[in-house]
Amino acid sequence: MLEELREEVCEGNLELARNGLVAWTGGNLSALDPEKGVIVIKPSGMLYSQMTPKDMVIVDLEGKVVEGEHGPSSDTSSHLAIYRGRPDVRSVVHTHSTYATAFAAIGEPIPCVLTAIADEFGGAIPCGGYAAIGSDAIGKEILVNIGDSPAILMKQHGVFTLGTSIKKALQAAVMVEDVAKTVAIAQQLGTLEELPEEEIAANHDRYMNRYGTMNASLGVSAE
Ligand code: 13P
Ligand code: ZN
Repeated sequence: MLEELREEVCEGNLELARNGLVAWTGGNLSALDPEKGVIVIKPSGMLYSQMTPKDMVIVDLEGKVVEGEHGPSSDTSSHLAIYRGRPDVRSVVHTHSTYATAFAAIGEPIPCVLTAIADEFGGAIPCGGYAAIGSDAIGKEILVNIGDSPAILMKQHGVFTLGTSIKKALQAAVMVEDVAKTVAIAQQLGTLEELPEEEIAANHDRYMNRYGTMNASLGVSAE
């Protein structure tokens, strides 16, 4: 069942490992098939180096395993809560990537101090409260706190990202770690200064609507 989505989800999980965002068996990625009303998710506790498409687990929206040779990720109920609460989401990613999770460890959001943060996240990357692994508690906390950001830190745990595709959820996971690293280093060098609201809005609008397209203006400033 769902051969193509199994391959895409396996490939997405492997991409987390290739980008250095996960260690050993930590983290997970899932994707939704909205027509069939099921998700495909990483098996729990499996090494990325041994993962193949047939190891992916298919779970319905009530959490019942429909097909799989392994147990589904421990975060499955939270992924499901997110898909139920956010009908725009097609993929959920979770990592313990080092720098972003360092912010999660101290329970602090990543402030919007870089154009890259304004671009990708449209503001500070929020941090949700601590929630135990294993139920839908993490998912519920994410829904309450994530707002319009594609990424959230979960206190003393790690990163969760949401996307309209696997690629988008992966992008947010890569970018949150990249900016977290820069901000963590910047904190050692001096005082962080948040971008003004209007600069955040302008950067986010450019990135979302024109960046990488033929309409990307090269605006020349007046002499
Ligand atoms: P799983 O291997 O069960 O997906 O757990 C990894 C993890 O990061 C739990 O939060
Ligand atoms: Zn985790």
